Amino acid sequence: MPNAKAFAASSATSPLALSNIPRREPTDRDVEIDILYCGVCHSDLHQVRNEWSAVPTTYPCVPGHEIVGRVTKTGSAVTKHRVGDVVGVGCLVDSDQKCPSCAANREQFCPHATFTYNSPDKHGTAPVTYGGYSTSIVVNEHFTLKVPTNLNLAGVAPLLCRHHHLLAHPWLGRCEG
Ligand SMILES: [Zn+2]
Ligand SMILES: [Zn+2]
Repeated sequence: MPNAKAFAASSATSPLALSNIPRREPTDRDVEIDILYCGVCHSDLHQVRNEWSAVPTTYPCVPGHEIVGRVTKTGSAVTKHRVGDVVGVGCLVDSDQKCPSCAANREQFCPHATFTYNSPDKHGTAPVTYGGYSTSIVVNEHFTLKVPTNLNLAGVAPLLCRHHHLLAHPWLGRCEG
């Protein structure tokens, strides 16, 4: 299992510290992304400090859901991206792809949505998903966006914040992240 370097919080009161986290080998539909930029969002701070009672934080916590990076590896069934493409990842990395919400392209309402960090990791790579304050991430291509390379990529990262998804999410209710 490959490792990535990451900034992780080990408790609600500790600062982020450099550490190593596991990343999975890409499955058929996954892309492996070398992270170039990741926005720092108020939601990240809330999660690190365990300030959302509806979504208790599992530690270590690696936040970051405004990710821009370059594809370094693709699974055998990936069609959207090739190695070298610049892509973005927001706050969702998986869903069941079966329910009415997913069928309507509203994966944020999926009862089995996986958030980019602090969600149970369906792949079992770690207890929970780890976000973009790291050197790499592996994501199902369905939850990636192609980023035009003529844009300022550092400026693109914060655009990946999908707060409207979170604000509307029944688990979180109204959050002022
Ligand atoms: Zn679904
Ligand atoms: Zn954000």
